[in-house]
Amino acid sequence: MSTKHIPAIKYVPTICPYCGCGCGIYLVVKDAKILGIEPWEAHPINEGKVCIKGNRAHEFIDKEDRLKKPLLKERGEFREARWDEAIKIIAEKFKSYSPDEIGVLSSAKCTNEENYLMQKFARAVLKTPNVDHCARLCHASTVVGLSQTFGAGAMTNSIPDIEDSECIFIIGSNTFEQHPLIARRVMLSKAKGAKLIVADPRYTPTAKQADLHLPFYSGTDIALMNSMMQVILKKGLENKEFIESRTKDFDKLKQEVMKEEYSLVNVSRITGVAGEDIEKAAVWMAESKATTLLYSMGITQHTVGTENVMTTANLQMLTGNVGRAGTGINALRGQNNVQGACDVGALAATYPGYKRVTDKAAIKKLEEVWGTDIASGKVGLTITEMMDMLEGKMEGHLKALYIMGENPMLSDPDLKEVEGGLRKLDFLVVQDIFMTETAELANVVLPASCWAEKDGTFTNTSRRVQRVRKAVEPPGEAREDWRIICQIAGAMGYGKQFSYESAGDIFDEITKVTPQYGGMNYERLEAVEGLQWPCPTADHPGTKWLYSEKFSTDDGLGHFKPAEHKPPAEAPDSEYPLILTTGRLYFHWHTGTMTRRSKTLDSEVKAACVEINGEDAKELGIKNGQLVNVSTRRGKIKVMAKVTPDIKKGEIFMPFHFKEAAANLLTNNVLDPVAKIPEFKACAAKIAKG
Ligand code: SF4
Repeated sequence: MSTKHIPAIKYVPTICPYCGCGCGIYLVVKDAKILGIEPWEAHPINEGKVCIKGNRAHEFIDKEDRLKKPLLKERGEFREARWDEAIKIIAEKFKSYSPDEIGVLSSAKCTNEENYLMQKFARAVLKTPNVDHCARLCHASTVVGLSQTFGAGAMTNSIPDIEDSECIFIIGSNTFEQHPLIARRVMLSKAKGAKLIVADPRYTPTAKQADLHLPFYSGTDIALMNSMMQVILKKGLENKEFIESRTKDFDKLKQEVMKEEYSLVNVSRITGVAGEDIEKAAVWMAESKATTLLYSMGITQHTVGTENVMTTANLQMLTGNVGRAGTGINALRGQNNVQGACDVGALAATYPGYKRVTDKAAIKKLEEVWGTDIASGKVGLTITEMMDMLEGKMEGHLKALYIMGENPMLSDPDLKEVEGGLRKLDFLVVQDIFMTETAELANVVLPASCWAEKDGTFTNTSRRVQRVRKAVEPPGEAREDWRIICQIAGAMGYGKQFSYESAGDIFDEITKVTPQYGGMNYERLEAVEGLQWPCPTADHPGTKWLYSEKFSTDDGLGHFKPAEHKPPAEAPDSEYPLILTTGRLYFHWHTGTMTRRSKTLDSEVKAACVEINGEDAKELGIKNGQLVNVSTRRGKIKVMAKVTPDIKKGEIFMPFHFKEAAANLLTNNVLDPVAKIPEFKACAAKIAKG
């Protein structure tokens, strides 16, 4: 009897590449191909459950249009090139620019190891301080706002301990669609009796699960929360012991929030929410034994994003809801590794471990470990500033950009201006897995590997560092991003500083310069399937929640930082009477590069739409499904109207995944002055029949 050779099936444990939940999944591999995804029952975050995106995360990997060879643009057309040819051109061009003339964009989709190398490449090889990534566009205000109040810009608690909350306040987050495996914990908590309050201008799937929905106007977060704090103080429900022993500047907070401006009557007018509902929410939060606050980009993407974040911190400190299970400020990070990219220094103002770029001791340490002098002592340009400089809105001489895994041609505000700016570059290198809208503009395109084709780590939204494992080889001549960076560095004379054998070698170097990761290594991460930072020593078990005893500020106290309500930079007026807010859909992800190439996800939602309230639609004579023109002062797009009661009258909503109806053609490139995050969440708009 002949024996048949049956190829073995491998189950490779790894982490989902989409949202910041960081769910564990198995990639099912046969004949060097990924067949599908299997749930990982024992994974501590998702316990065997996945959402639709995680379940279909493999579908884009084998797409025909994956980049497989380096491409060089000549006379406006791309031609295929050899790797050595492309690397040589890049190295020569990069050497020709002064540090101020070049910038680097790293990527929240890539691993910690790759982000670490990208910022090292910028600072140690190009000697430029200009390195940033898309956290600037989603949670830069979290990093700044929480650093000023608590001393560190990260989610304070863990995903599983949401189940220990008695009251959950979600503001500016459609958790049920965007962080479904966090939403699961919310539902488990509700099943145990917790009350759920959701503040959102839209009646989202998250709001539909709420015991109390506060449908406030976009951009009135501070007014709403200051009013809640006034209620708490008037009723004497503040946690006096916590305030006395753990915080400072309570008097300043009290002075601000007790102003008449934040009375229930006034704030009801500002926010459009009934006064009794604001009062009820405040009392529920203050009377619960453990209240957690979850927020996302609805809070951060405003000109007052940093102050919004600080106000969430004020609210939780006022009621003593920090430093215990089921409490805290939980900033839900959007992308799979936006937390890690920040941790390892892919930010204009901080080195690995959030050391300020002006910190002399940190510079000395990096120069020792890296064995070279570095761009030092100067805060670099943020993404938004790089674009402003290219668009001529800011003085400077940026001439070249090296972009890894980012697509500013869809993700940045006011896209016409972005395109104009990128076209002015003398030299643009884009390293990605598909020909994105940004790659189309590049001089050199380098084919990279996706998450299933490389080893490394991602850090989820709750500071949990987890192993990502290579399951298959990249297609064609595509290479792992970290290897590409090392090759360019080598061609520029820094081979010694970039001589790594594996992703694990890079991780070991990260732990030397990132104190929060100091006690981690791959062996430990694999043994317990992830460790939450801070984990400073080899015997430290990691940290489930921060600030049990003291905050990370210099004096160990939580700092109240009162903020006043200020309207969005562009308020509705007679010409543009509606407020446009933007966001994501359940089935898609960011610029759609991956999800729109997934057969299943694409078949669920193929096109953009604009959500408009039934009353507004009736006044404008617009019917459900009709084509309409949505305009702002920056542009106009044609899109299908979705008439729905699920959005507040006066507001409209558009997803930003669709290049053919790119919402960011309309958004306002006006920045939070501290965090430099754009105001994606509110601008004045109008709609007319198409
Ligand atoms: Fe992936 Fe997020 Fe879905 Fe988990 S919840 S499977 S991490 S997209």
